[in-house]
Amino acid sequence: MNSKFRPVVIIIAVMILLPNLTGCSKSRKKLTERTVFAMDTYIKVSLYEDDGSVFDEIEESIRETESRLSVTDPDSDISGVNKANEYTVSDNTAGVIKRALELCEETDGALDISIYPVVKQWGFTTGEYQVPDDGTLKELLKYVDYKKIILDGNTVRTEDGMEIDPGAVGKGYMGDVIAEIVERHGISSGIIDLGGNIRTIGKRSDGSDWRVAVRSPDGTGILGIILSSDESVITSGGYERYFIDNDGNIRWHIMDPSTGSPVSNGVVSVTVVGSEGIRCDALSTALFVMGKDDAVSFWKKKRDFDMIIVTSSNEVYITPGLAERFEQSSDDFRYYVIENI
Ligand code: AMP
Ligand code: MG
Repeated sequence: MNSKFRPVVIIIAVMILLPNLTGCSKSRKKLTERTVFAMDTYIKVSLYEDDGSVFDEIEESIRETESRLSVTDPDSDISGVNKANEYTVSDNTAGVIKRALELCEETDGALDISIYPVVKQWGFTTGEYQVPDDGTLKELLKYVDYKKIILDGNTVRTEDGMEIDPGAVGKGYMGDVIAEIVERHGISSGIIDLGGNIRTIGKRSDGSDWRVAVRSPDGTGILGIILSSDESVITSGGYERYFIDNDGNIRWHIMDPSTGSPVSNGVVSVTVVGSEGIRCDALSTALFVMGKDDAVSFWKKKRDFDMIIVTSSNEVYITPGLAERFEQSSDDFRYYVIENI
């Protein structure tokens, strides 16, 4: 089958509820914002600071990071890796690949950054959507195995046909990069919105937590609000990018590396909350792939992050630490605290 489908739909999964400005008037520092379009999304950095000088450094760093990690820019480090069997990348890119490979291992391959040949075949890179036949997928899956990516210093070695896709970890990593700059400048309050993936810095200027809204998984309303400070809040939602095939099935952009097809296990969104953005991003994708039961088992073993899983039958599974600081906005869902199931 090789026909075209409906255009891509991208809906922001999480949005920030900006602070009540009257609370800020007591502070000398004002809320200053800069928005940069990068990584296919609007990155909005809002900081309480004095003179705005930090923003140029942030913008430069966003552009630099994107130019290294982009899969479409032919001059990026990732394109270099994807075109050759051996390619030497910058220190930062080597750091991202190293951490991403550890996360592929931690999630037992539910995250697999070598998924790119499969993602391309389904048309998610171009919008020319198609459902590949089984033979094609079987052939492409030969190139999907993160264990065959060898990082030796800054040199990346891959086998013929293998290609890396940092899309499942890039925005989380970008949040870490921006937060590091902000903190180095001694700025203790701010919020970074990377197309719905949020990084909170400190608390709001009035001392209260940031309020981060998690969208309901059909993208129409708000599931609830997380009270947040100094952490990443990252959501993988099937609804963020998908097409409907000729048989009426929703095919979204999160792939099961064991089948080469979009995940279809009843999970419709996963939000992960934790300190390290790149890991939260990796886990949001990987837990989506694992499905609810395996994701809950994974969490019970680790307990070093929080999560919200929403299923297609409107069930919401939330970790106890997050349940305490989550304000439910919708009665359309049944809530389960994970410790009790
Ligand atoms: P996210 O929105 O963080 O869940 O990332 C989804 C993106 O990561 C997709 O658009 C693909 O580019 C890529 N991707 C899809 N499935 C996987 C997977 N199982 N492992 C790694 N990357 C993936
Ligand atoms: Mg992710």
